[in-house]
Amino acid sequence: MIIDCHGHYTTAPKALQDYRDAQTAALKDPTQPPYDGKINISDDQIRESLEGAQLKLQRERGTDVTIFSPRASAMAHHIGTATTSSDWSRHCNDLIHRVCTLYPSNFVGVCQLPQSPGVPPQNVIAELERCVNEFGFIGCNLNPDPSGGHWTAPALTDKYWYPVYEKMVELDVPAMVHVSSSCNPVFHATGAHYINADTTAFMQFIQGDLFKDFPTLRFIIPHGGGAVPFHWGRYRGLAQDMKRPTLEEHVLKNVYFDTCVYHLPGIELLLKVVPVDNILFGSEMVGAVRGIDPRTGQYYDDTKKYLDALPLSDGDRYKLFEGNARKVYPRITKKLSK
Ligand SMILES: [Zn+2]
Repeated sequence: MIIDCHGHYTTAPKALQDYRDAQTAALKDPTQPPYDGKINISDDQIRESLEGAQLKLQRERGTDVTIFSPRASAMAHHIGTATTSSDWSRHCNDLIHRVCTLYPSNFVGVCQLPQSPGVPPQNVIAELERCVNEFGFIGCNLNPDPSGGHWTAPALTDKYWYPVYEKMVELDVPAMVHVSSSCNPVFHATGAHYINADTTAFMQFIQGDLFKDFPTLRFIIPHGGGAVPFHWGRYRGLAQDMKRPTLEEHVLKNVYFDTCVYHLPGIELLLKVVPVDNILFGSEMVGAVRGIDPRTGQYYDDTKKYLDALPLSDGDRYKLFEGNARKVYPRITKKLSK
């Protein structure tokens, strides 16, 4: 089985964005109550939105199931209030649940959290519990910067976040560290803000002692870990200078990377420096980079092709494509056996 650990519903029917536009427009008059509109999307519209996109690509590329969450760039936790974020997250997660119900062998859900800048993260727990307990979701996306590019939240290792981690441990679900759109124009969302956040999260984990307090807490740092694998020696050296344990002992029992780097040399480097036990196959399709690489004639985000090009042992292939995902998202096994 081939599990793609990183997919978003980027092709959702237009009614979802119409809701968001109306919700955002209503914020312009703060004397008005929050927008309370409904979203009407039929099952056929959901099928149509996926058949020509994610499902078609799964079939063409030979992958089986995608760990699927709402469109990350649209989470935009910086817009409006905690209520805005809560309403928006609930609708987005409901829609993911409908996708997973229509296609239970193709998609397993991961939720967006109703974070809001300056609001203590306790406020996301009810939605996390709803998605895991009622919908059978297997993880969440946690935004380390709900301010959207201004980095006003404490580091991920700060006790500020502990209530969320306690709940994640209790539910046995991991979080993908995933920022959203950038409202700071100097950071391009997917080209700079995403990669900055991936790199920043890893350095925060080195500086802190989070995994002493939560030995079973698990994070996936997407986009191949940002700049981390390329600078592995820098991070090893910084950890050493800071009298931290080795990266293997200090971080790698809890932190995993996906394979969304979109070229073969990047995948080769990732596999060379990061232990295979810490890498999960992911493509983030249909996502940030949708074109075809003229040098290879293949889609940049067809990341399975890069792994297929490597001389991997059967054991390593199993870990990358299936085993590590089952280890990091243990709830997936129950979902897929239904
Ligand atoms: Zn993503």
